[in-house]
Amino acid sequence: MYSYIKTMVFFMGSLLLIACNSDSEKKSENIEINHNELDAIFPQGEKGSAAYFTGNAYNIGLVTVDSIFTTAVGNVYFEPGARSNWHSHPSGQILIITDGVGYHQIEGQAIETIKKGDVIQCPPNVRHWHGASPKVGLQQLYIVPNTEKGIVDWQEPVRENVYNKDFNEKDKNEN
Ligand code: MN
Repeated sequence: MYSYIKTMVFFMGSLLLIACNSDSEKKSENIEINHNELDAIFPQGEKGSAAYFTGNAYNIGLVTVDSIFTTAVGNVYFEPGARSNWHSHPSGQILIITDGVGYHQIEGQAIETIKKGDVIQCPPNVRHWHGASPKVGLQQLYIVPNTEKGIVDWQEPVRENVYNKDFNEKDKNEN
């Protein structure tokens, strides 16, 4: 009987240890994961053009635009430090963050940190950009509705000082 109790105590202790381990893994995941460690859901896709992205971003279309749904759905992986140019969507855009940590900024507003589980609505024709944080990559699903009005209007790259939130530089107001 005594050895049975000892076994049970050991078993319960192991369960506790496992619970603690997975908890600390989750915490470190939020700080230390990089692009290669993101929990990939979809194929990586094609590297985004340097004309539209700074750093390495990869896009794959998941729902092809057609006249029935008039909606574009796709996935983008941003490596740490990568981000889109400034741009706007004629009908707006919904972002669903599925892993990692990143930034989203609507022009004239503060940079917002975004992470797994966040859902962001970008209103129509509003200048904004989105991408990874400097040290942790980002995985995002995008949904663009009403594509008959257009999908995206690309504009200029996000300046390094804006991305790095270095608002002491003299050109801080240019973006
Ligand atoms: Mn967008």
